[in-house]
Amino acid sequence: MSYDPLLNDFPDRQPWPDSYWATTVTRPESLPALNGRRQTDVAIVGGGFTGLLTAYYLASEFNIEARVLEANQVGFGASGRNAGFVLKGSGRMGYSQMAKKWGMETTRGIYDEFSQAVRRVEQLIKQHDIACDPQPKGYLKIAHNAKAYGTLKAAANFIAEHLGDDAEFLTPSELKAAYMDNHQAYGALRLNDGFGVNPLKLCLGYKRVVQSLSVPLHEESCVRAWLKEGAHHRLVTDKGELIARRVVSAGNAYTPKHFNAAVDSRYLPILSNIIVTAPLSEAQLAATGLKTHQVVMDTRRLKYYYRLLGDNRLLFGGRGAISGKDARDPRYGERLKSAMADCFPALTDIAIDHNWTGWIAAALDDMPHVYSKGDMGYSLGYCGAGVAFSAQAAYRLAQHIAGERLPDLPLYRTPLPKFPFARLRRLGQSAYYQYAWLRDRYS
Ligand SMILES: Cc1cc2nc3c(=O)[nH]c(=O)nc-3n(C[C@H](O)[C@H](O)[C@H](O)COP(=O)(O)OP(=O)(O)OC[C@H]3O[C@@H](n4cnc5c(N)ncnc54)[C@H](O)[C@@H]3O)c2cc1C
Repeated sequence: MSYDPLLNDFPDRQPWPDSYWATTVTRPESLPALNGRRQTDVAIVGGGFTGLLTAYYLASEFNIEARVLEANQVGFGASGRNAGFVLKGSGRMGYSQMAKKWGMETTRGIYDEFSQAVRRVEQLIKQHDIACDPQPKGYLKIAHNAKAYGTLKAAANFIAEHLGDDAEFLTPSELKAAYMDNHQAYGALRLNDGFGVNPLKLCLGYKRVVQSLSVPLHEESCVRAWLKEGAHHRLVTDKGELIARRVVSAGNAYTPKHFNAAVDSRYLPILSNIIVTAPLSEAQLAATGLKTHQVVMDTRRLKYYYRLLGDNRLLFGGRGAISGKDARDPRYGERLKSAMADCFPALTDIAIDHNWTGWIAAALDDMPHVYSKGDMGYSLGYCGAGVAFSAQAAYRLAQHIAGERLPDLPLYRTPLPKFPFARLRRLGQSAYYQYAWLRDRYS
């Protein structure tokens, strides 16, 4: 059965997901588990983008010793199974919302962090020669109805006026002529940065870079207990224990439910589901009008995201089941296929070759928090947008551990707020899905 962070005690003994990405790489041998008693300066729990890159920046920029403990094999978590959209932004809050809440200066500061995040990923790919199939740049945000078209236009104007970035607005006919014949589109906003990658290749690339810096990385090493003993932390795994001066919790949505008071009940794990079609034929490409490999997302509350992959398969994602026990229920994949066919009727009968799910971590205040205090830190709550921001978060975490000051921004200032009725999170989520579905359809 699939791991469910709100129900199961630990995320270990889990295979890699049966994803399209897993078919594109040769699976490496597992690295040795932590064995016996070891010591380090910084223990990092979780070997996804956040954990690997925190180790990378600690070693490469600050010469601080770290050790990474991963419960399964690197590539197991969200980092190896996501849609691979490298985007400016994280969380769910819009820039005009931020400006209302915190003012323009702070909003610009956050925008700069998100912009740096994308540049950081580009730089890592280039500097370390990570072959992860980057696609041409461009991010299309599709208005799913007439009202959303107006809201998108306002967002485009806001970005152009206050954040100094070009945002292009496309009418339905311009979208059709240059990008796709999407039957659900009322126009689109196109941003110049943002691009698609193969996330598993990127994750394994980061792993290789961390190993090249001689940072110890242990797989099949689930942390089952985290104890504070005097000035040290003791992390206990099945075969060993790690004594550390500081700990970074980088398990994201896969963090077990009772792990540490600093993170427990502070995020909501939500399932996202992806399907990948058989390669589109020339006739199907012509019928859908798909002429672009840029990344696409719509404006629904329950968003759909999609892109044409290098071999002309269509990747199409959206929300999955609520609980881990239903994660593999075929009806969620079928629901996605039907939403895809609403956009591109020519794909109604296309074969679905891959269908998988993964957990994302939502924050109560819709914003990621990179928080480090004293001898522990975490970065959590990317709300399904962590491919780029995890790089910036990891850099900021490493900086803070090294004693440097972080920009005075809400992203870095406060811990994640606790969900008030943590046990009722799933009921709230279910009610929200029904409300959002109605709003998406009828407003
Ligand atoms: C289906 C899907 C599609 C997505 N699409 C996108 C996208 O297109 N663009 C985007 O920006 N974001 C996307 N995301 C979100 C993105 O993948 C995540 O934000 C990001 O990968 C989080 O990285 P991470 O390193 O923090 O966590 P993860 O990659 O989830 O890694 C956490 C790791 O911690 C390990 N772990 C947990 N507990 C323990 C423990 N006790 N001991 C040892 N190890 C432990 C887990 O095994 C896991 O490997 C998507 C997510 C999903 C699920």
